[in-house]
Amino acid sequence: MRERRVRFAPSPTGPLHMGGVRTALYNYLYAKQAGGKFILRIEDTDSHRFVPGAEQYIIDSLKWCGILPDEGVDENGKIVETASEKHPHAPYRQSQRKSIYKQYADELVEKGFAYYAFDSSEDLEAVRKEYESRKEPFIYNHISRKSMKNSLSLDAAETQRLIETTDNWVIRFKMPENRIVKMNDLIRGEIEVNTDTLDDKVLWKKADQLPTYHLANIVDDHLMEITEVIRGEEWLPSLPLHYLLYEAFGWQDTMPRFAHLSLLLKPDGKGKLSKRDGDRLGFPVFPLQWTNSEGEISRGYREDGYYPEAFVNMLALLGWNPGTEQELFSLEELTKSFSLERVIKSGARFNPEKAKWFNQEYLRKRSDSELANEFKAELVKSDLSGKIGFASKPKEVLLSDTYLTEVCKMLKDRVSFIKEFIPLSDYMFVTPHEYAQNVYKKFWNENSCSMLEKLIDAISSNPCTDAESIEKAIKDTIAENGWKMGVAMNTVRLALVGESKGPGIAEIIHLIGKEESIARIRNLIDFSKK
Ligand code: GLU
Repeated sequence: MRERRVRFAPSPTGPLHMGGVRTALYNYLYAKQAGGKFILRIEDTDSHRFVPGAEQYIIDSLKWCGILPDEGVDENGKIVETASEKHPHAPYRQSQRKSIYKQYADELVEKGFAYYAFDSSEDLEAVRKEYESRKEPFIYNHISRKSMKNSLSLDAAETQRLIETTDNWVIRFKMPENRIVKMNDLIRGEIEVNTDTLDDKVLWKKADQLPTYHLANIVDDHLMEITEVIRGEEWLPSLPLHYLLYEAFGWQDTMPRFAHLSLLLKPDGKGKLSKRDGDRLGFPVFPLQWTNSEGEISRGYREDGYYPEAFVNMLALLGWNPGTEQELFSLEELTKSFSLERVIKSGARFNPEKAKWFNQEYLRKRSDSELANEFKAELVKSDLSGKIGFASKPKEVLLSDTYLTEVCKMLKDRVSFIKEFIPLSDYMFVTPHEYAQNVYKKFWNENSCSMLEKLIDAISSNPCTDAESIEKAIKDTIAENGWKMGVAMNTVRLALVGESKGPGIAEIIHLIGKEESIARIRNLIDFSKK
């Protein structure tokens, strides 16, 4: 049995889309499940599409998700450039492997599986136009190649002359004529394609001395001893060529098995999930925030406050069906349960609400004191930070573990993200001085002042050591005086909170303390007299 070795092979053309992260995740899970290796290879042979910063972004994203590769990336989060025991196939960046590929392209020419083509881009453009005028699509194939400028149509001497004297030639794959290529995909099963539908793809270019994706990908997968290729379905059309390349090289025995993952679909199921959907519907499609060269910012799951575990869990289930009702999986559990056979063939519709649900579940799993720590970190960088504290409880007390833990315990069922604690709990840190107009109008009447005075007496004579006794004291006072419960409670809430949100009145009083509560009720009385 060969060691299981899979790779994630992104091109650094921009930030990694969440679909790309899912591909990486499935590769990671598949490798780890068998104690195999997960490899990162940077496919940067297309220099026109290279985007600075994209490579680091890919590594940072994998790191944030907790799925760092075993090979290809070092301890400092950099692509490995020099071979070592741990990283035997370095460099892992294709642009640095440039010298490897030419010999393979030459081998294919020698064996008759590839040929030189000298057509300039103007030549190609001209034939394309000519075909277009006849309403036919132009493909460079076994028919058209006969009338093009290449080593199959030219004699040996002319071919040699052009190789030596021109700089723009390429090596193309000689797609066989009318052959059925039978393929197998671990997710899709048997697939057959007639080679007459395929073109003679460019494999290597003299101009930049670089291979194209197809050649580099096959050569590297072979050299890196990859056992399974798990990638997006946009590469399925390349599969016949890849099969034929393995065959041409005589590498069929060690050819990897293939699995093509279906697309992530928009929330309405119509088409591929794009960055524009995220902008339009208000959710991120990238793991981390990304700023492009024009300074435009695309939001990221990390910056939006998602836990990486929640993001990973959500992604794993977008296209993989565990076969049970279970929805919450740690990375370890995913590694145990994952199987390519249970990856769905159809597109997986992304549901932003479900993504939030996952985060909420992970938030609830945390202990109150863990939440308190995370909340504190958000709080101190929020707008509220400079204003925290009131007479009876200074900032240190309000930012203490004990106080913050109480706040989190009280509100954690109402939030999906840590930062949502802030607008829900501002009054627990700052004395309100403004009151919601509509609430005031609705509940304030000529008896309000005397009612609040009596409630102040009830609160001040209560030891306020637990919420239950405070609640009883308030309710008894309301009942004894025959006030309407709703009106009385809402008036007190307005005093304590400044509006009509928040948990139970007694809980708030217990938390902010008797002194502060009484001071707040007095503030509202004063406000009413202005
Ligand atoms: N470089 C290709 C990409 O950007 C990799 C495709 C593959 O995994 O073979 O998706």
